[in-house]
Amino acid sequence: MAEQNVAIVGGGPAGLMAAEVLSQRGLGVEVFDRMPTMGRKFLMAGRGGLNLTSGQPLDLFLERFHPPCRQLRDALRAFGPEAVRHWAKGLGIETFVGTSGRVFPLDMKAAPLLRAWVNRLRRDGVRFHTHHRWVGWSPGLDLHFETPAGPRLSRPSAAILATGGGSWSRLGSDGTWVPLLADQGIGVSPLRPSNCGFEVSWSPHFCERFAGVPVKSVTARIPGGKPRQGEFVVTKFGVEGSLIYSFSAALRDEIERSGQARLLLDLLPGRDLRRLKQELSVPRGSRSFSEHLRRRTGLRGVQAGLLREGLSPEELSHPERLARGLKELPLVLIAPRPLEEAISTAGGVRFEELDERLMLRGVPGLFCAGEMLDWEAPTGGYLLTGCLATGRRAGEGAADWLEGR
Ligand SMILES: Cc1cc2nc3c(=O)[nH]c(=O)nc-3n(C[C@H](O)[C@H](O)[C@H](O)COP(=O)(O)OP(=O)(O)OC[C@H]3O[C@@H](n4cnc5c(N)ncnc54)[C@H](O)[C@@H]3O)c2cc1C
Repeated sequence: MAEQNVAIVGGGPAGLMAAEVLSQRGLGVEVFDRMPTMGRKFLMAGRGGLNLTSGQPLDLFLERFHPPCRQLRDALRAFGPEAVRHWAKGLGIETFVGTSGRVFPLDMKAAPLLRAWVNRLRRDGVRFHTHHRWVGWSPGLDLHFETPAGPRLSRPSAAILATGGGSWSRLGSDGTWVPLLADQGIGVSPLRPSNCGFEVSWSPHFCERFAGVPVKSVTARIPGGKPRQGEFVVTKFGVEGSLIYSFSAALRDEIERSGQARLLLDLLPGRDLRRLKQELSVPRGSRSFSEHLRRRTGLRGVQAGLLREGLSPEELSHPERLARGLKELPLVLIAPRPLEEAISTAGGVRFEELDERLMLRGVPGLFCAGEMLDWEAPTGGYLLTGCLATGRRAGEGAADWLEGR
């Protein structure tokens, strides 16, 4: 089957993993990407430390992917966190499990891994075409590209789309593939921000004083939910950061349903409510409110500012209500920040459209993988693992399909 060739659109982690499997199966592989180099978002992911996967047990790991669809779970069971670490090792990249169970390369970087990977793929015969923007297709798998040298047509035996989500479009994935599929009747859920910041109506004073300031060692929960500890950053528009991202799917959905969402902050985790009430009942005499708060609770700066933003003057002056506010401060979020700014994308090609090999049921020979599929997960290594696993599954699916023809 050496004369069979597969075109992969998108040279991110999902597309490159599909290329790896296909070349190992002896197929001719061409990867097309609109950017001048492969894996730009992957490189960006390495900026603050490449969180490649997770050290969690597989069952807990799988629970973080939504919706819980069979094809995605099967792909992750076949190529989960352990397999990702083993694969990275094969490229000469040792990994370690950090505190909080996140897995990173020893040097925390993405570039050495990407370089080793692309070089190995080249050695295995994979051909790369940069500056090739996929702009359309016609039945029979004719793929149309725009290139600096003019339009180009590719007629592969099978094709894999791995064109990513719609955030950080300057890194390559801009979501312009959505109408290319939707116009042909393929079900695509609208792309929406995931792992994103949110807007809050800060007072001008608070915003001026605290935009850019981190809020550390707090816990947050959505009403009725479990608290999580972490940190976030106050921005000009609202809030962002890992603690906020971990609730982003639920918050985004709640805003879509009811126009706003509430996050409850515990500004003094570990401090007992009853004791706090007693502390705050001590008369403040001639001291200012800020000084009283600082002396009785240790709170100051941005945390004290948040309290003033979230509670009314009556609540602030009432020891019991103030104590409750410190433990359950409502933060009202009015909108997610735009998709462009999000770490990842929810929505995409619906799983009902795909068979167990990730081939589009209505288009034999055309497969999809990575963030362009309709799933989401928090930060913590879930995203890359999901992309690598589905890339692998689509690559194997395409090779099996070609073999079976
Ligand atoms: C700032 C940031 C930090 C992140 N950190 C982490 C992290 O630490 N851990 C983690 O697990 N995840 C992280 N992520 C998420 C992770 O990088 C993505 O989920 C992952 O890269 C998606 O892989 P993909 O292959 O599906 O798509 P992408 O990596 O987006 O690749 C898609 C490729 O398709 C190409 N393409 C798109 N449209 C076309 C077209 N029409 N024609 C030709 N080519 C096209 C693009 O140029 C791109 O190269 C981070 C994301 C961001 C933005």
